[in-house]
Amino acid sequence: MRLKDKVAVITGAASGMGKATAILFAREGAKVVVSDLTLEGAGATVAEITALGGTATAVVANVATEADIHKLIKAALNSYGTLDILVNNAGIMDDFSPVGDVKDDLWDRVFEVNVKGVMRASRQAMPIFLEKGAGTIINIASIGGLYGSRAGAAYTASKHAVIGLTKNTAFQYAEKGIKCNAIAPGGVNTNIGASFSSANQEGMTRAMAGASFNPRSGEPEDIARVALFLASEDSDFVNGVVITADAGWTAY
Ligand code: NAD
Repeated sequence: MRLKDKVAVITGAASGMGKATAILFAREGAKVVVSDLTLEGAGATVAEITALGGTATAVVANVATEADIHKLIKAALNSYGTLDILVNNAGIMDDFSPVGDVKDDLWDRVFEVNVKGVMRASRQAMPIFLEKGAGTIINIASIGGLYGSRAGAAYTASKHAVIGLTKNTAFQYAEKGIKCNAIAPGGVNTNIGASFSSANQEGMTRAMAGASFNPRSGEPEDIARVALFLASEDSDFVNGVVITADAGWTAY
């Protein structure tokens, strides 16, 4: 068991990669605080973990709300007495709009969740990590945070920001025993597509034009296994990096 008795908070863990990560972490011995927008969603993940004999608790938390993040980090302390691992996974897509078509409200919503949500949770976890002199943050970025052609302007800019924040956090806290790394997934089969049902088809076609080579889509478990590596002692000497997980899509 690679995470025996570690306490992990995972945002957006009712679905996709967050859910797969919560289940894998629990299988590896972690006590998991599963958070998402609804109790029904988070509770369903907890029920799966419990059925496997794991330990988890559900917390409703919108990462766009400071009070919810406060409640989430407190829940880890109240339920399990500490916090070791924070996975900033919650994220939303945009509608593939290029900058000339971006609507302010969509831009703001994407940044509130994808960037400010990561900052908020990291900020509120930090006092616990500093007191322990240990802690690990894993931010779910995207290949859209490394390249300019896989989504719209808002999502692409938000994921570039997540990678910048990851590196800055790693640098600022490395000497305090706190690590921060990111994963940049390629296309993974999750529910995130539901949020761009009103996609600007022209923009999407343009965005995907560079995607002629894509060996395969990922499954949420492909990303969960990378998160496990970053959460475990196996990656003790790894800090401030972005691990691309895309089966080679962006390797050429
Ligand atoms: P998903 O939609 O299946 O899961 C995301 C979860 O986040 C959902 O359960 C949703 O309810 C939750 N969520 C959304 N807004 C939230 C908020 N404000 N507060 C709390 N929870 C919120 O999507 P996924 O693909 O598993 O996405 C996980 C992460 O992976 C996201 O950050 C996404 O940007 C990133 N990502 C996804 C892909 C992909 O192809 N699926 C590729 C690269 C990166």
